[in-house]
Amino acid sequence: MEDSVEYKLIRSSRKTIGIEVSPDGVIVRAPYRVPVYEIDEFILSKRAWIRKNIEKDNIQKLSREEIDELADRALKVIPERVKYYAPLVGVTYGRITIRNQRSRWGSCSAKGNLNFNCLLMLAPEGVVDAVVVHELCHRLEMNHSKRFYENVFRVFPEYRKYDLWLKKFGSRLMRRMTG
Ligand SMILES: [Zn+2]
Repeated sequence: MEDSVEYKLIRSSRKTIGIEVSPDGVIVRAPYRVPVYEIDEFILSKRAWIRKNIEKDNIQKLSREEIDELADRALKVIPERVKYYAPLVGVTYGRITIRNQRSRWGSCSAKGNLNFNCLLMLAPEGVVDAVVVHELCHRLEMNHSKRFYENVFRVFPEYRKYDLWLKKFGSRLMRRMTG
């Protein structure tokens, strides 16, 4: 499959070819004398980088208001899920806190206090359950040992699927968080 990149060409007296990914698209600056086929070849060799940067550029940051809405929704949804899964895992828990974070989806303290990221509200429902079960299972094992995952899979057999979703799309979602 041909994999071309659309770009706007600006000629100048510069000595090298430069690529810039802007919100308006890809801009290529090139010396007057470099033939177009050479520019195309150069672009083609850089297309992985260009793609990555276009993607990065297209990430829409959430507004303060949107984050507050997510947090409100998470406060309704997540404690319900925790309440549902805790007896299935066979554990108790402490406080539940919803956070706006760019680094973690959830955490569990030694005292059993649970933290969850409000961005989970933008993920598929199964992802929320996967994170809830994961954190609750830390009430049994404060590690990621084989035994820990045996508990996770016992309670939530589809865990792998949603964990993979997070591995694949999670960082992109995290980058929507402002600040
Ligand atoms: Zn963990």
